Amino acid sequence: MHTDARDLEPGSLIEGDLCIVGAGAAGISMALEWIGAGRRVLLLEGGGFDYDPHMQDLYRGDNIGLPYYPIQSARLHFFGGTTGHWAGFCSTMDPLDFAVRDWVPHSGWPIARTELDPYYKRALSVVQIGPDEWTAEAWQRRDPSLVPFPLDRNVAWTKMWQFSAPARFGVLYRKPIVDAPDVHLYTHANVVEIISNENASAVQELRVRTLEGKEHRVRAKRFVLACCTIQNARLLLASNGQASAGLGNANDLVGRYFMEHLEMPSGNLVTLGRTPPSVQMYDWGWGRTKARGEIALSQEVQRRRRILNATVSLSPAALSDPPQSTFQQINPQLIEMFHTGKLSDDVLKTPPPSAVPRTFQLMTRQEQAPNPASRVTLSTERDALGMPRTRLDWRLTELDRSSFAAFYEELGCEFGRAGVGRLQMRDWVMQPPNAGWPPSLSGGWHHMGTTRMSPDPKQGVVDVNCRVHGIANLYVAGAAVFPTAGCVNPTFSLVALTLRLSDYLKHSSA
Ligand SMILES: Cc1cc2nc3c(=O)[nH]c(=O)nc-3n(C[C@H](O)[C@H](O)[C@H](O)COP(=O)(O)OP(=O)(O)OC[C@H]3O[C@@H](n4cnc5c(N)ncnc54)[C@H](O)[C@@H]3O)c2cc1C
Repeated sequence: MHTDARDLEPGSLIEGDLCIVGAGAAGISMALEWIGAGRRVLLLEGGGFDYDPHMQDLYRGDNIGLPYYPIQSARLHFFGGTTGHWAGFCSTMDPLDFAVRDWVPHSGWPIARTELDPYYKRALSVVQIGPDEWTAEAWQRRDPSLVPFPLDRNVAWTKMWQFSAPARFGVLYRKPIVDAPDVHLYTHANVVEIISNENASAVQELRVRTLEGKEHRVRAKRFVLACCTIQNARLLLASNGQASAGLGNANDLVGRYFMEHLEMPSGNLVTLGRTPPSVQMYDWGWGRTKARGEIALSQEVQRRRRILNATVSLSPAALSDPPQSTFQQINPQLIEMFHTGKLSDDVLKTPPPSAVPRTFQLMTRQEQAPNPASRVTLSTERDALGMPRTRLDWRLTELDRSSFAAFYEELGCEFGRAGVGRLQMRDWVMQPPNAGWPPSLSGGWHHMGTTRMSPDPKQGVVDVNCRVHGIANLYVAGAAVFPTAGCVNPTFSLVALTLRLSDYLKHSSA
């Protein structure tokens, strides 16, 4: 069922069993799970079915930290959310990503990677990838032309990625959701406040507002916030009627630990030998490649070098190619074109290079160490709905910077030993400690943290079941709950976590 909240009588009361706020990757993944479950499920989406610049402007905010993308360009505010322009890169997080690492402050998930395994399997069909094969050997068996580099597994390994078409959730799942008798989608239903009981121990109702100024109330037994990392934090912080610092924020943690992936061109590889090594396994063509290998360091080396997790991709390049920051290349207008998900035919038809390239640009994707000072707060400015806008203070630490150098020292030695080639590093990678960031600093469009998971309310906003500490019926879905970021793009993992939350909600009583 679908209702446009602009068509309701002002002051309408909407009631259900479960209320999901936000219809993006997380919200839609959860709603699909409840079709036919015999409960009345409400899915509240702030936007409509299409891009609208007035709606998108609600996301505008200030960047007061390191250079970053304009906030309103980094997420999409309509049905389907940011899957309207995601690239579809998927991989699984590693077991070490979930562990407490004594060299990474605030690391450690309260669950192990094995807890996510069954949900990763279920998430394959949601993001439209598969099969459930994540080793280089399995992909080589399917296609013998995919030959991994002969690396010593104790040092480095080939980590596999799969590429979704990419799945545009707003297009793919609109009909199943609108046709479902027990899932009621409300579009143009922006939640502007979560209202709790007097001691802020349970949510009573949500206040919804349309851009035209109509207000409605929403009541349910349980509520799931799936508005994306920055907006989840904003909504909790702005809901300060019963808790002056915002809901779930008794320990001043909401909005903290904002994380990105550092996606930066960091060096070049020049392959060796009369016959260059086979690189097909590492090759990637938009819309053509189903799976690709990238290179990562073993857990043992990460432990010994006391560094963050990272993975590196290879793309044909010249040694003289300058490194570029995506922050500076991207403007809001350009990003707004991405929402259609349409690529020009020229891009899809670009022929593969005729000669086997010898030089490759190395693009690193490194996790960011969790950092309480890297945070989202509220601005004094308000948007068209009267909500305080966001203020993003993205900050990095010396561990984030120094991990690059150690990563490449290890990789360089192993590539040399294995006869793959020689590495040439960007100057900034090898600079001494505290040298700061180069102008090519870039992030991956991946927002994580802000409502991190921990069994201890003094260390995290949500518990192991993604329930906001201290609030009986409020949950968070999405990468906002990640305690650490891993080094792979987040959507496949956040969908898996959402399916886990959905199971928990089905099997626990309201
Ligand atoms: C250019 C780009 C490329 C990317 N590529 C990849 C990739 O290759 N691989 C990958 O894993 N990830 C990628 N991502 C990240 C990916 O898009 C996000 O991880 C994912 O969409 C987050 O899902 P979400 O449901 O948390 O948020 P979203 O998908 O952003 O959905 C949030 C939803 O909540 C709604 N909403 C917000 N506030 C409110 C409110 N107050 N009331 C009601 N509704 C509200 C929004 O309208 C939206 O529909 C990319 C992102 C960008 C920008």
